[in-house]
Amino acid sequence: MRLRTLAIGLICPMAALAQFPPPNLTENTIRVSDHVQVILGFPNVAIVTGERGTLVVDTGLGPANGAIAARVARKLSKGQKLYLTTTHFHPEHAAGVGGFPPETILVRNSVQQQELIGQGAEMLVLFRRLSPDYAKLLAGVDKLRPPDVVFDNEAKLDLGGVTARLLWLGAGHTKGDELTFVEPDRTLISGDIVQNKVVPGVSGNGGSFTSWLAVLDKLEALKPRYVVPDHSHPGDGSLIAQERAFILDMRSRALALKKQGLSAADAGKRLTSDFQTAYPEWARNPDWPNLTSVPGFVQRVYAEAP
Ligand SMILES: [Zn+2]
Repeated sequence: MRLRTLAIGLICPMAALAQFPPPNLTENTIRVSDHVQVILGFPNVAIVTGERGTLVVDTGLGPANGAIAARVARKLSKGQKLYLTTTHFHPEHAAGVGGFPPETILVRNSVQQQELIGQGAEMLVLFRRLSPDYAKLLAGVDKLRPPDVVFDNEAKLDLGGVTARLLWLGAGHTKGDELTFVEPDRTLISGDIVQNKVVPGVSGNGGSFTSWLAVLDKLEALKPRYVVPDHSHPGDGSLIAQERAFILDMRSRALALKKQGLSAADAGKRLTSDFQTAYPEWARNPDWPNLTSVPGFVQRVYAEAP
């Protein structure tokens, strides 16, 4: 059990979750901006609709959820073409591709594709172990189909009256985090990189908090009006500054404890308690089990410190 918890802790901030988020998507959407609607769930699935084409960002966990996302996209679509991309390679974001119709054009950055090839299979094994529900949704899921379009830094999708800029700006939660900036809405679909009051977690051999901060700088320059995270509620552009301030503050708190000679485990306990006083809204955020995510954050900061 402890081994399993440890292994999962390396993946997502889902680390010590006693109960895993319910994985079944619904067909309900909320509108974020003129061309962007979202299914709120695990994860949030964003749908960008133009006159000629529709883009879905993230698949949901397993083909059954992928089929729901595709159905909702078709319902909202005005144009013929259906595009799909994924914020990162983890199964709730990418392993539902089999539920999309075969003509779907799958687009993904090359770093993320490499991560999926290298670590996708072991991640499926880990997710199947998280809960019987997850195992059922991932039953029979093996090799995921390759993308139709692979890009290095940016792919621009002209959907007709709206453009989705698919961006790879560096590593953060994973190596291949993908950001989607929708113009003219100025809506950013931010994956794990910008969330709404959720303790950030670097997954396995993903990025670092230093590289994460560098990505946030690039995002700030886009001046988004709306931000759609993958595991928390949509908000406005100020979420970027909030994310940066949190990482800087908690990192300096952790480093101060390291300087005092505290072990990472003790610092994790201390900061879990400080966090509840300093960030009461985060601590109570029902979107994600933040209290159990703080020790992982601290451990990572300790490991990254020179
Ligand atoms: Zn993830």
